[in-house]
Amino acid sequence: MPDRLVVVGASLAGLRAVEAARRAEFAGAITLIGAEPHAPYDRPPLSKEFLTERGEPTYLRDERSLRDELDVDLRLGTAAESLRPQDGTVVAGGEEISYTGLVIATGAAARPLAGAPDLAGVYTLRTLDDARAIRAALGPGVRIVVIGAGFIGSEIACSAGATGAEVTVVEAAPVPLAAAVGERMGTALAALHERNGTQLRCGVPVTGIEGERRVEAVALDDGTRIPADVVIVGVGATPETGWLAGSGVKVDDGVVCDETLGTGLPGVYAAGDVARWPNPLFGETMRLEHWTTAAEQGALAARNAIAPEAARPCSTVPYFWSDWYDSRIQFVGVPTADEVRVVAGDPDSDSFLALYRRGERVIGALGLNRRREVMKLRAMIGKHASWDDALGVS
Ligand code: FAD
Repeated sequence: MPDRLVVVGASLAGLRAVEAARRAEFAGAITLIGAEPHAPYDRPPLSKEFLTERGEPTYLRDERSLRDELDVDLRLGTAAESLRPQDGTVVAGGEEISYTGLVIATGAAARPLAGAPDLAGVYTLRTLDDARAIRAALGPGVRIVVIGAGFIGSEIACSAGATGAEVTVVEAAPVPLAAAVGERMGTALAALHERNGTQLRCGVPVTGIEGERRVEAVALDDGTRIPADVVIVGVGATPETGWLAGSGVKVDDGVVCDETLGTGLPGVYAAGDVARWPNPLFGETMRLEHWTTAAEQGALAARNAIAPEAARPCSTVPYFWSDWYDSRIQFVGVPTADEVRVVAGDPDSDSFLALYRRGERVIGALGLNRRREVMKLRAMIGKHASWDDALGVS
């Protein structure tokens, strides 16, 4: 039985790993290593109310409770530097920390805009420190350009607009969010920006961010130059796997895992935004950047790491939400479908439900302000419900 659990990454997946191990009555030593100096905090509010309400961050657990209640050896502000599976150790803060079970939960980092100069006033958003810096730069009349109309870019645009800033969103793809929800529904969601007075320019790549020391403008491929006091780059995230170089852990846009989140190295599992695994429910390999998956996987990876002989597969229906203006967008399942059908409401309005069909099966659902139906559909998709049964939900 493993008696030394090490968890690398002290955010959502890492915290849930530690909690699940203790809930499973793991009595061995637990070390939690986190690169950020903060106790685990919640990221979703950082692009939402944290930017507009000027409140405190939402901590998921405080340091005292981690140390005293969960008996965790907590190493914050300490990045793991390498993994040596042959010795069963993680090197962090110049120290070799031995493990018998290991959970890799190092998440992802915001991707910068390739080739962009290092100018004051240009930000990405991933961490609490990023959000604090952006919050200080927002305000009435500030000219903001958000690069990327994905979920995080769109949320930032909504929040920035709510502070009175003048916001323009630029997106290289002709339709935003096509990979996440499909083209037709991406268009329907993008229309929310127009209806709420946010300027959105799609299909025009950014060619440069201009300025001397501070940003002054964003240049687009069609020759347009958009003046900017602040630029926020929201072009996606890259899994944090650099520290695993040379360890033997296979990396391919994330840590490559089997169905149980195992890496193939004895006792080594991965969870959350950093993990790529074959989801048996869909027969597809996925890496998700969703809160709910990170929480579920953190707990499962820890249970599997402390009892590998009883390791269970990670079979889950992907779920994410996003809040734009006063609306809640929710998506469950996967978007690659034979047919997408709006079954309730109107995609030109602030309330609709769309279902995604593959063969005779419902495989996804998108709702705008349709919380009850979407959660019902998540459960149905998990049980391989038929298309006809799903049509009965609305
Ligand atoms: P992370 O939260 O990225 O945490 C990984 C941690 O590991 C970080 O603290 C990092 O510093 C640390 N780390 C990295 N490298 C090392 C190392 N070498 N050593 C030690 N520590 C290391 N999802 C939704 O479903 N809905 C939403 O509305 C939503 N909103 C979001 C808004 C924002 C601004 C962001 C950034 C994300 C949002 N998400 C949302 C996604 C969700 O927050 C993530 O899926 C979740 O945080 C992933 O958790 P994680 O623990 O896997 O990774």
